[in-house]
Amino acid sequence: MPDGLGPKLAQPLFKRVALIGLGLIGSSLARAVRRKGIAATLVAGDASQAVCDRVRELGIADHVTSDLAEAVADCDLVVLCVPVGAMGAVGETIGSAVAPGAIISDVGSVKGSVVAALAPHLPDGVHLIPAHPVAGTEYSGPDAGFATLFHNRWSIVTPPDGADEAAVARLCDFWRAVGSNVEIMSPSHHDLVLAITSHVPHLIAYNIVGTAADLEEVTQSEVIKFSAGGFRDFTRIAASDPTMWRDVFLNNKDAVLEMLGRFNEDLAALQRMIRWGDGQGLFELFTRTRAIRRGIIEQGQETAAPDFGRRAASPDAAQ
Ligand code: NAP
Repeated sequence: MPDGLGPKLAQPLFKRVALIGLGLIGSSLARAVRRKGIAATLVAGDASQAVCDRVRELGIADHVTSDLAEAVADCDLVVLCVPVGAMGAVGETIGSAVAPGAIISDVGSVKGSVVAALAPHLPDGVHLIPAHPVAGTEYSGPDAGFATLFHNRWSIVTPPDGADEAAVARLCDFWRAVGSNVEIMSPSHHDLVLAITSHVPHLIAYNIVGTAADLEEVTQSEVIKFSAGGFRDFTRIAASDPTMWRDVFLNNKDAVLEMLGRFNEDLAALQRMIRWGDGQGLFELFTRTRAIRRGIIEQGQETAAPDFGRRAASPDAAQ
């Protein structure tokens, strides 16, 4: 069945690509790179022997190794797919093994701190071009990946000042080849935008699910029973990988705190509207927010199916 990724490329974009960290994002990239024929040779490197063994079983790379320096040797593209807090240590391990002229990129959810963590370890002549695919699920590990994860999603490429234009263009081609739309912005602007579109929403989900978990036990069973009232959708986000999200908040501190300040002010305004019975104010806000959701659906970033598409996906849906 067609998966929307289109046919294989007539010829590979890169001779040898290494993906470091074969979890959800790394293994999805491996599958997409193979499916589209983007690399003549694909190398998978992960510090965990168990992950390497599983990647071998899945057969989603040509070479698999837990020796990260060996993984990146002779590659013209290396993409780090490890948690943001591990980027510096991986950079230190691979830095001297990276071939001159190679592009070093990553998929981390924060960009400013990744540039700061990687740049000191890379020799002259290596092009550091970070990126962030705005696509994911709440699952982790090599079994969670799938080739179409990036299809019709946005990937943000964040070249540092003075980055080589040809290298930036090649990385944009890479992301387009796995099915993404591409936008270029500075690392600091990325961190501000993602603080409000991704990081603060995750913090709110972690917080509301944490509050419910702290309620008395009898109430907890009711929380689960009646979760379809809205809570359930927060639990999906709050099930996201704890290591990844700890690192996001520690590494995008300033932008997250800035957006949280704004959020708290707006929440206080809502509290006031409820206290003073300002129905008009509440109605106007809810009307504006509804329009934002419609915009997201119109741009193909979410399904318009009722109940977030759950009804269509459920086994009784066909009946
Ligand atoms: P994941 O499924 O947990 O995979 C991370 C992989 O990296 C695991 O195989 C992990 O091995 C390995 N790893 C951890 N530390 C390492 C190190 N020092 N050296 C080598 N390998 C190491 O995580 P993910 O969701 O794919 O996230 C990876 C990156 O993508 C993160 O930077 C995240 O911010 C970014 N991202 C995630 C999403 C999302 O929705 N999940 C979306 C966009 C971007 P172990 O399991 O053995 O630790």
